[in-house]
Amino acid sequence: MKTVKLGKTGLIVSKNGFGALPIQRISKKNAVYLLQKAFYNGINYFDTARAYSDSEEKIGAAFSYIRDKIIISTKTAAQNADEFWKDLEQSLKNLQTNYIDIYQFHNPSFCPKPGDKSGLYDAMLEAKKQGKIRFIGITNHRMTVAKEAISSKLYDTLQFPFSYLGGESDIEIVNLCKENNMGFIAMKALSGGLITDSAAAYAYLSQFNHVAPIWGIQRENELDEFLSYNDNPPIFTDNMKKQIEHDRKELSGDFCRGCGYCMPCPAGIQINDCARMSLLLRRAPKDDYLTKEWQEEMKKIEGCLHCNNCMSKCPYKLNTPELLKKNYEDYKTFL
Ligand code: SF4
Ligand code: SF4
Repeated sequence: MKTVKLGKTGLIVSKNGFGALPIQRISKKNAVYLLQKAFYNGINYFDTARAYSDSEEKIGAAFSYIRDKIIISTKTAAQNADEFWKDLEQSLKNLQTNYIDIYQFHNPSFCPKPGDKSGLYDAMLEAKKQGKIRFIGITNHRMTVAKEAISSKLYDTLQFPFSYLGGESDIEIVNLCKENNMGFIAMKALSGGLITDSAAAYAYLSQFNHVAPIWGIQRENELDEFLSYNDNPPIFTDNMKKQIEHDRKELSGDFCRGCGYCMPCPAGIQINDCARMSLLLRRAPKDDYLTKEWQEEMKKIEGCLHCNNCMSKCPYKLNTPELLKKNYEDYKTFL
């Protein structure tokens, strides 16, 4: 089975990491079953976040008896030191452990550093000193913050979106992490549902031996698919290359990459999914996006304030409010 060394942490994780965001949506019993099945079939790395409701609790329930056999990363979206400590204590309790392997700042809008007024990085250092965390990580969707985190040399790992739809600038981040011996954890390796061929996604990422992808897993058949790659890793074939070129062409132009650089939105619109709903409906199982929850999310587009904050932050220069409107119109035809 393929493994990845996470940079200077020295941690060896399975090439398939388990992204535990989707297990929020299933029962505790089913989640524990999936997590344990993953572990007993070779997955040793599980990534979650304080923000993923009961995901941490489910991991705690599944693994408290074999804590030292697995590697856990979780995240805090704290804005100051007080919130940091509250989150950390809660995560330790939920995960039924007294240490977290990689504790990550969850998509902060800036790169926390020692002595800054947020006090966040100093709190991380103190938590490390106390043995409550082993390594310091950061997750981000913003190129600028990611680059700053790498050059600061303050972080052991970076979690960043990376898939075969990524451009040269994403590959630059991946390579910079390698040069700086920083672990690279790839989120959204299926581009949030736009990539439907997981074998091609896996084979593409296999070319980068220091990259550890985490796959969001909710169903047993999804888990089985990734487990099958442990024994028979998909090879990057010419056909896959053609398919990737085709996807890159199809998903070019006015297409939202789901990066989230434009967020948060003052009207609470989940722009990174809603602005590409037409693609999600056509490229992924559409029923997943027609639920009551999603209908409510899409309806928020009606409340767009046309402040254009999103447009000014989009690195792809998309007319985001217009794109949201188009996607909403199209969405209604599916209902
Ligand atoms: S223009 Fe609309 S979608 Fe964009 S940030 Fe403002 S309210 Fe949100
Ligand atoms: S609108 Fe632009 S910035 Fe926002 S999620 Fe889509 S691609 Fe990213």
